[in-house]
Amino acid sequence: MQLFPCPFCGLRDETEFTYLGEPKARHEPADQTSDEAWAEYLYVTANARGEAREIWLHLTCMESFAMTRDTATNGVIGSESLRRAP
Ligand SMILES: [Zn+2]
Repeated sequence: MQLFPCPFCGLRDETEFTYLGEPKARHEPADQTSDEAWAEYLYVTANARGEAREIWLHLTCMESFAMTRDTATNGVIGSESLRRAP
C-alpha cells in the first residue's frame, strides 16, 4: 500500500485515487485540428522514466490535482492543487 498526498485531504490510501493522465495543452480550436494532431493529443504520452508530473483525481473529494512522482521508484515527490488563485 502506498499513500498519496491529496492537496485537499492530506495523505490517503492509493486506492482512493485514479490516474487521469499527463498534463498537456489541448489543441484549440479543436474542430480545426488535424486528425493526426488530435490522435497524438489523445493517445501519445511521454511516459517519462524518472520525475514526472501527472494529473490525478481523488475519488473521495472528487478534486483533480497535479502529483509529481518518480516513475522509476514510484516515490511521490509532491502534489499541488490545480485551482487558480481568485
Ligand atoms: Zn481529496
